[in-house]
Parts: sequence; C-alpha cells; structure tokens
Amino acid sequence: MNNLINENGIESMDVRLGDTVVASDGSIGKIVKFCGCEECLSRGFKEVCFQWNSGGECWITSYDKNAGFKLYYQIGEYRWPEHVDQEALANRILSAEGEITSANNKKKNAIRLLAIINGLIDIGEED
Ligand SMILES: [Zn+2]
Repeated sequence: MNNLINENGIESMDVRLGDTVVASDGSIGKIVKFCGCEECLSRGFKEVCFQWNSGGECWITSYDKNAGFKLYYQIGEYRWPEHVDQEALANRILSAEGEITSANNKKKNAIRLLAIINGLIDIGEED
C-alpha cells in the first residue's frame, strides 16, 4: 500500500498496484508502479505510473496532484465526476460506434462477396 499525502499532510490517499485509473476522457489503465526517488520521498507523494489498457505508460505526477488530478476521473477508489470531459467521452462513444458499424459493413461485404462467388446473386444486385 502506498500513501499519497497532500502538502499539508492532512488528506491521505491509499492506492495500490493494479488499481484502476480512468482519465477524464474515459481512457482506462491500471497502476503498475510507484516512483521511489528522493524527491518523491521528501515530498511525501510517490508519483504513480500506470499502463493504459490500449498500451503505453503514463505518470501521474506531483504536478497533476497539485492541479487536483484534473485530468483524471478515477484513481483507485477515488473519483472526481466533475473532471469528466463530456465532449471527449461523447466523441469516444461515437468513434466506438463507428468502429462497430464499419465491422458490420465489412461482414456484410464479405457475405455479399461470398454469395457472388457462389453464384447466388448477380454482381450489381442490391440486397
Ligand atoms: Zn519520484
């Protein structure tokens, strides 16, 4: 367990390896390590490294902490609904829907191509 203690040492925050991190745009990752450098130890805030589910690593730095974790919706058990970027989330949902639609279209095209090859329908015939 690692404590994230604010500058005043009042509020403490417990996060663990494997905890979920959700960015304000809805990107998801999990905590993979904590920084143990002298600076972090003297500040009382160990910078957090997490890995995006989509690949790649990112650090939650002392700067992020001082900015109130504005770029994050969730870190471990802590959530900041006010940090959700509605527009970015809406765009992510739209682009995910776009991917599903294009996958459906590819499947449709493959089925149509197969039907043409098998002589089941004429080329140019609309379904
Ligand atoms: Zn450090």
